[in-house]
Amino acid sequence: MSETPEERRDFIRDMIKSDLANGKVAELVTRFPPEPNGYLHIGHAKSICLNFGVAQEFGGRCNLRFDDTNPTKEEQEYIDAIQEDVRWLGFDWDGEPKFASDYFETFYGYAIHLIEAGKAYVDDLSPDEIREYRGTLTQPGRESPYRNRTVAENLDLLARMRNGEFKAGEKCLRAKIDMASGNINLRDPVLYRILHAHHPRTGDTWCIYPTYDFAHGQGDAIEGVTHSLCTLEFEDHRPLYDWFIENLPVPSRPRQTEFSRLNMTYLALSKRKLIQLVKDGHVRGWDDPRMPTLRGLRRRGVPAAALRDFCGRIGLTKSDNTIEYPMLEHCIREELNKTAQRRMAVLEPLKVTITNYPEGQSETLDAVNNPEDPDGGTRQVPFSRTLYIEQADFMEDPPKKFFRLAPGREVRLRWAYFITCQDVVKNDAGEVVELLCTYDPATKGGDAPDGRKVKGTLHWVSAEHAVSAEVRVYDHLYTRPDPGADGDPIDDLNPDSLSVIADAKLEPSLSEIPVGETVQFERQGYYCVDPDGTADKMVFNRTTGLRDSWAKAQKNG
Ligand code: ATP
Ligand code: MG
Repeated sequence: MSETPEERRDFIRDMIKSDLANGKVAELVTRFPPEPNGYLHIGHAKSICLNFGVAQEFGGRCNLRFDDTNPTKEEQEYIDAIQEDVRWLGFDWDGEPKFASDYFETFYGYAIHLIEAGKAYVDDLSPDEIREYRGTLTQPGRESPYRNRTVAENLDLLARMRNGEFKAGEKCLRAKIDMASGNINLRDPVLYRILHAHHPRTGDTWCIYPTYDFAHGQGDAIEGVTHSLCTLEFEDHRPLYDWFIENLPVPSRPRQTEFSRLNMTYLALSKRKLIQLVKDGHVRGWDDPRMPTLRGLRRRGVPAAALRDFCGRIGLTKSDNTIEYPMLEHCIREELNKTAQRRMAVLEPLKVTITNYPEGQSETLDAVNNPEDPDGGTRQVPFSRTLYIEQADFMEDPPKKFFRLAPGREVRLRWAYFITCQDVVKNDAGEVVELLCTYDPATKGGDAPDGRKVKGTLHWVSAEHAVSAEVRVYDHLYTRPDPGADGDPIDDLNPDSLSVIADAKLEPSLSEIPVGETVQFERQGYYCVDPDGTADKMVFNRTTGLRDSWAKAQKNG
């Protein structure tokens, strides 16, 4: 059902195909341009899969370029993490990572070029005044009184800006385009602003920094990027992007094309909002499994392959849309169903004593690791007189359709034996705390030689062999599919997004599953080993449940 990359078609791939076919470009070069001011999220995954994906599909190259033009918000920690996350997602960039800051000297030369051509000027208006002079969508802007400075004066002031003679906001360099343009981005955009800030890479060399618009397209051109793929909010910047390319002595002519950002129900995909969740302690960190960051998804147990599959399926469009969160879960299940080992884990234990099984005795039974994987092999599961089953798998007074355990009923224990509930033990409060059952030794492995059938198969673990675990179960971080629709998304946070099962009982082989691996707890869902675990107590994160509401809705719809 999922398309292979070769079959994938969308307006960007069509464009690339034709550009290559008619010789407009000889080799495809793309780039992924994160600003190192936070961790990557699932929205970035869409851009990564697109940029690196088309490079792979069309035999081209994709650069990783950090857009590090705003030193007040950028940190080395993010630069490192972004590289790690791109690799985790399964991609690698051409050569060394690139940085906009590598080109600061070239950009400065471009600024001088514009001044000399009479196409840029140093402005003394304050940032507030510049905003006010800019006008609105319906009203043209007004020209700055400093707009007609001479070339010599502009060159001198720019050099003095660079030398640190002015305070932040006192001066800036602007392109001289058209204050009456219908496109506000062309109303003399700012090219350089003064920022007395230490830069993670250039240190204190610079106290003026290029704006995104002045750095981005020129970075593309310097690197020979042929297709600069970015999200729709930059569509209105494209005339400016082209203006720079036309008016500067750049070594190549990249072309910008826009596609829709990824929006998803129940998520707020913006680094600013994610930073707030972390800084204000609403989550445990950037890699909290509830976070839509790549680190959060990874810690939750989402395989990179599932994310790549997801990014392929959502497709590329020219207009904004919102993807239903369950579609992501569907991709996760499809991947994990193929790859995850099956194990038994009892989350809400109820003690079961097999009264006709000898005390002190135990045995091991063969269990299949993954019925979907013929090479998955088997493992040994210990069985003994005292077991745990799930509380929800027993009812003292069951309704007709309940096929699990009840007084007098016989069920199968997965990979083991048929057992029959003979009696229940209750505490003073009248709650069932133990079941007394008998087993049929002839049903070893799960089938009765006399052909008798049972309707239920339960998972279980042997009490004395069980491993203890904390299990963290997650719900949406927000209570509504459109967080923030009525104001601040923080007001829509779900107070029950994390619930903790303190003492689940697991089959012992789970202790050998390494941190970061996701397994299926049979009949429950997918769970990933968390690094918070200790020698005494493992910790698991629930990745997702087994029920696929999305696939069902697709079928019925
Ligand atoms: P945010 O809005 O989350 O802060 P950003 O766009 O400021 O994101 P950048 O680091 O500038 O983050 O993004 C790097 C690249 O990832 C850009 O090309 C950007 O268009 C793309 N990108 C960011 N968010 C999304 C998204 N939700 N869907 C698709 N692409 C995205
Ligand atoms: Mg950005």
